[in-house]
Amino acid sequence: MSRRPLILSAILTLLVGFVVQRAAFDYFAEEEWSKAQGQLSLYRSTVVAELEQHSHLTHILARDTFVTEAVAGGGTGPLNARLEDFAQQSGLEAIYLMDANGVTIAASNHASETSFVGHNYGFRPYFKDALQGKHGRFYAIGMTTGLPGLFLADGVVVEGHEVAGVIAIKKGFSVLEDSWRRAGQQVILTNSDGVVLLASDPAWRYRALTPLTEAQKQEIGAVRQFSGQPLDPLQWRVKTGNRAVIGGDERMHLVADDLPDGWQLHYFADDDRAVARSWLATAAVVFLAGALMIVFQVQRARRVGRALKRAEKEEAQLRSSNQKLAVEVAERKAAEERLQKTQKELEQASRLAALGQLSASVTHELGQPIAAMRNHLAAAEINPQNTARLGGEISGLVGRMEGITRQLKFFATSSEEAFEVFDLRAAMQAGLTLLAPNIEKGAVEVEVRQPDEPAWVRGNRLRLEQVITNVLRNACDAMEEEDAVSRLSVTVGQEGAVAFFEVADTGHGLGAASLPDLQEPFVTTRASGRGMGLGLAISASIIKDHDGTMQAEDRPEGGAVFRVELPAVQDNNEQMI
Ligand code: ADP
Repeated sequence: MSRRPLILSAILTLLVGFVVQRAAFDYFAEEEWSKAQGQLSLYRSTVVAELEQHSHLTHILARDTFVTEAVAGGGTGPLNARLEDFAQQSGLEAIYLMDANGVTIAASNHASETSFVGHNYGFRPYFKDALQGKHGRFYAIGMTTGLPGLFLADGVVVEGHEVAGVIAIKKGFSVLEDSWRRAGQQVILTNSDGVVLLASDPAWRYRALTPLTEAQKQEIGAVRQFSGQPLDPLQWRVKTGNRAVIGGDERMHLVADDLPDGWQLHYFADDDRAVARSWLATAAVVFLAGALMIVFQVQRARRVGRALKRAEKEEAQLRSSNQKLAVEVAERKAAEERLQKTQKELEQASRLAALGQLSASVTHELGQPIAAMRNHLAAAEINPQNTARLGGEISGLVGRMEGITRQLKFFATSSEEAFEVFDLRAAMQAGLTLLAPNIEKGAVEVEVRQPDEPAWVRGNRLRLEQVITNVLRNACDAMEEEDAVSRLSVTVGQEGAVAFFEVADTGHGLGAASLPDLQEPFVTTRASGRGMGLGLAISASIIKDHDGTMQAEDRPEGGAVFRVELPAVQDNNEQMI
């Protein structure tokens, strides 16, 4: 695996992990929130139940005869014992009776060190309310005991409907706090000023949720509600999304604000479980993704391995076929070299043979007139009167020798001579003029068929005239050997892109020989001395240089016909001769 995909998968995993963690946390936090709401409602009911539990007790006690008698000045001896018993039975911290001035005259804790008896609580709001015939209700730190509690009071009415005293109870809430602490929960109960009355953590108690105003502080101080407590602000911070930081931890923050007297219950539920579960879910998903990735990678590695093996096998096969091919190529090269060598040898041999043949022919051709000339010269020496005849004889022999050398000259001259556009009819006329002596000598009837229009061709005019002359001479020669009437039919013309000439004779015909055979150099059917077998070879070479073709066949009525085709020149604007 290269670096790039590795980094990509790491980023992808982180991204997926992040998204999964967020989603899982939201899901589990929602669950925790519902649970916390249930818990809060339970705490709320407990608090409300505690507040309600003894709310009517003072109303009943105010009508108790022991109480009314004591207020009327009938003595408190039996009342103290009675109140002590009541307090014990109902689990209250204290039950006490005050006179109209607020001085405690009887109390359930009369016998304890912190007895209320003799203390004046006239400044307390619950006393004042009760004195006015209302139900007093006040939460405060006790002046005598220093313990907090809820004070409930009612006025004791004696004759004439006059409130002559106040009966009060003090109810402690330490049980609630203890239950919260034991459950490991973070709960606080605040009053309408936002001062914490009860808290699962004692350090939070008597702290203000929001800083108190001076007026609030004075009011609280006047009734000595929380005497000795500075009521500093609570160290906490409310965050968005119903969350708050308290005691250094961020938690879910739930509030029940429908308690009596404007009290509020704050529950700070931790969502550690949601966090843990979300991480667990994330870990599971990442682990699953990782496992899937590993499986995928293993399968991929297997596939790659298999492909590699296949490729190696194919490579080995390819290598072996390459080697075979290389051997074959080497063999072929060697064979080619052998062939080339053989061809070269063959060419050399054929060149030597050709040279030999040529030398023999040339020697023979030239030997004959030379011998004849020597004979004539010898005869002239013997008979000097014959010198006049000798000139004629010798000039005839020289003419023959010139003919031979003229033909051989073809091989010495360059073929790269200038091409020109000329009329094939004119070239044929020149050939016929050149052959006029032969025609005359052989009493040949000549018939010429040609169009009125010129048949333009491009080429070396002298060379093509040489071809025409060759063909005409061959025809004359073939007819000379026959006894029948010699007739030469010459046709010149143009058919589309082709200009041609045809020479038909009434000679002996080609017989068994084919044209390619006859075009071989030194192939001749004539008796030695008459032909050298070079005419058609030279003609074929010239026609090939002009991109033309030559055909030859026997005529059904006897004799042969030779046809030469050349590319016609269509454009009349070219330079013409
Ligand atoms: P040469 O005429 O010197 O023999 P050529 O190459 O011109 O050489 O001709 C080769 C041979 O082709 C001749 O020997 C002859 O047998 C044959 N040949 C050429 N033209 C004709 C013709 N018109 N009719 C019959 N045979 C021909």
